[in-house]
Amino acid sequence: MNKIVILDGYTENPGDLSWEGFEKLGQLTVYERTPADKIIERIGDADAVIVNKCPVSRETMDACPNIKYIGVLATGYNIVDVAAAKEKGIIVSNIPTYGTTAVAQFVFALLLEICHHVDAHSNAVKAGDWTNNKDWCFWNYPLIELAGKTMGIIGFGRIGQNTAQIAKALGMNIIAYDEYPNDAGRAIGEYVSLDELFARSDVISLHCPLFSSTQGIINKENIAKMKDGVIIINTSRGPLVVEQDLYDALESGKVYAAGVDVVSTEPIREDNVLLKAKNIFITPHIAWAPKESRMRLMDIAVENLAKFYAGEPVNVVNK
Ligand code: NAD
Repeated sequence: MNKIVILDGYTENPGDLSWEGFEKLGQLTVYERTPADKIIERIGDADAVIVNKCPVSRETMDACPNIKYIGVLATGYNIVDVAAAKEKGIIVSNIPTYGTTAVAQFVFALLLEICHHVDAHSNAVKAGDWTNNKDWCFWNYPLIELAGKTMGIIGFGRIGQNTAQIAKALGMNIIAYDEYPNDAGRAIGEYVSLDELFARSDVISLHCPLFSSTQGIINKENIAKMKDGVIIINTSRGPLVVEQDLYDALESGKVYAAGVDVVSTEPIREDNVLLKAKNIFITPHIAWAPKESRMRLMDIAVENLAKFYAGEPVNVVNK
């Protein structure tokens, strides 16, 4: 019988979904989390290992020779030594897309919070500030209308283009920078150079993958090319931003505000400089996580394993 082990299932399914799709495919063991020193013991003689952020190294593959399949419950698969897996004939599969609409929606959860401070105003009302107000309304922060403003999107792929569609519905103009422009993108926005994007954008939203070429793309030098009072949103990967440089720009007001769902080290370290910055909203990497999005992820993960057992693996990242 197939033996399946899920090493860190909690974030995908904290209890509101079912693992039954995997149960139908073999003998299933699910761990919520697995510390590094328990990985080998818990995999044991399982043939299929399912992980989200739990690393599967060459040493683990050496110690667990029964592994034939590693399924990653995410798009990014850098936690698996895919080269070692390939050498050993182990198939590694990922979930290429599941959260496009959820992440694009979340860009606007951050951006609209910056524009309206709904939470802070609601708290002020509950604290009695409206009841005791001299006028019929009040606001504690500048309120910003997005219509007519320009959104610059770096990385105009699935999430970038979906974000652009929503921004257009709000009346924004769209410019984009991508290494590989395509017709779908041209139909939604105007491709420009990176420098032009920095110069023209009122809001910059990051949607490129983390590569050595994109690491630190939001740095002091590039921030200097931006409009005074620009807003920066990062729902992609933390290391795209040099956090000290963003902090300095928020402090000086060069960057008016930022919304980030991702930071350089996750969970965020208590000495992360962004925790002390003004005009920033930081969320704990939740853009991907609405239940609808996690259900799609689960369905694709189960389908990936079913196809592997059927001898027709799909979404293989180490062909
Ligand atoms: P995608 O592959 O569809 O789009 C990425 C785009 O970036 C592509 O068009 C690609 O050509 C472009 N690109 C590649 N190199 C570039 C470069 N050097 N400069 C500019 N553009 C470049 O990916 P996607 O599904 O849109 O996801 C985008 C990113 O969102 C992912 O890489 C991931 O980091 C992030 N993400 C975050 C969450 C979250 O929960 N916060 C969830 C899913 C994905």
